[in-house]
Amino acid sequence: MNSPSILIKNLTFSYQKSVAKIAPVVLNIEDFQVDYGEKVFLYGPSGYGKSTFLNILAGVLETKIGSVNVLNNELSKISQAQRDHLRGENIGYIFQIFNLIPYLNIKENIILPCLINKKRGLGINIYEQADQLIETLGLTDHIHKNVTDLSIGQQQRVAAARALIGNPKMIIADEPTSSLDENNTIEFMNLLLSEWEKRKFTLLFVSHDIRLKNYFNRAVSLSEINKI
Ligand code: ADP
Ligand code: MG
Repeated sequence: MNSPSILIKNLTFSYQKSVAKIAPVVLNIEDFQVDYGEKVFLYGPSGYGKSTFLNILAGVLETKIGSVNVLNNELSKISQAQRDHLRGENIGYIFQIFNLIPYLNIKENIILPCLINKKRGLGINIYEQADQLIETLGLTDHIHKNVTDLSIGQQQRVAAARALIGNPKMIIADEPTSSLDENNTIEFMNLLLSEWEKRKFTLLFVSHDIRLKNYFNRAVSLSEINKI
């Protein structure tokens, strides 16, 4: 239970610039660890590299300097395709903008990760789990609506269900409450954390809103760990 889900050693990251220009270092993290089943709040102001860091952990951005180990995979030693599989099978990602597919209904949006990646949710009935999530997230009465006709709060709950489907080992959330009002934020946090109570996945939740830190076991300031 206590093996690390995330283990970073001496990570340095810059976005590639044209040959003539030197790219500024966005991340320089000596040491960062999240154990399996931990729920960690990572905070920092806008522009400090939070999304960049999450995209590295999810294997979307490639790192060449330092060691980034995610769910026992050394990301620099595996290919882009292998990183895509790792993410598709094991990581649920909740975005700031929900990225729902407008021409799919609620349930189709939720089960999509399991259709794209056959190993995600292997051995469980994803249709039943989608129904359970729809009920838990208070979306049952809206099931026949187009996702674009849902309120912002409801759309973000669909996005949360899409991240939770198939029991991924880790959930990464990138400022998921930043476009929600106070009531929807509280509702969203309670729902996400009640799902965490049930399954104890590793949860890395990023926000600039420091008030949310009390929902978590541990709060980490990106500016403290990022020595740029
Ligand atoms: P945060 O999520 O904390 O607001 P970001 O990770 O989005 O911060 O951005 C960190 C820095 O990296 C910023 O200076 C931003 O301009 C830069 N940056 C982000 N994305 C790119 C990109 N695709 N190409 C070049 N620079 C980028
Ligand atoms: Mg960001």
